[in-house]
Amino acid sequence: MTTFDTLIERNRAFAAEQSAAGLLMPALPRALPNVKALIIGCADMRVDPAHVLGIKSGEAVVMRNIGGRVTPGTLRMLGLLGRIGEVAGERPGGGEDFHLIVLHHTDCGITRLSGDPAMLTDYFEITKEELQTKAVLDPRAAVAVDVAALKATPGVPGDWLVSGLVYDVATGVVDIVVPPAAIH
Ligand SMILES: [Zn+2]
Repeated sequence: MTTFDTLIERNRAFAAEQSAAGLLMPALPRALPNVKALIIGCADMRVDPAHVLGIKSGEAVVMRNIGGRVTPGTLRMLGLLGRIGEVAGERPGGGEDFHLIVLHHTDCGITRLSGDPAMLTDYFEITKEELQTKAVLDPRAAVAVDVAALKATPGVPGDWLVSGLVYDVATGVVDIVVPPAAIH
């Protein structure tokens, strides 16, 4: 079972516990050594990857911003991480596949900025004309845009797997919008 499959399985268990008990239960699978991933997600308190994907301490680097978007700022942070060596310096994953996961969600607050294009163009460092390409109102389209942006970014190791997920805040289930595939 790959890292990605493990995370999706954990999410299904998470969602089932949530719907069964109305509470978040901690009884998820534990013995999963060497799970390694870098997750880009939204700052929304409902979508913490530690909860949604069952990430445990030491398993993944998590970077969160408004919308979980791949902005120039996100890419600069990736570059810093690579320099630090937490991600790219040593061979991550202990020989397993390394996963770069973009995690967006329904009912995201970034949609409420759609009437404030100046803030969004500043955030994405683009022109007002380019803003519609970021699909801020549609998380499924947006996650595909951001996966494509990562694939187009020089310096991201070509054998990393990149994927795009959308978490449904109503059901607790993540939908695999962009299945994992190698960066290059
Ligand atoms: Zn959000």
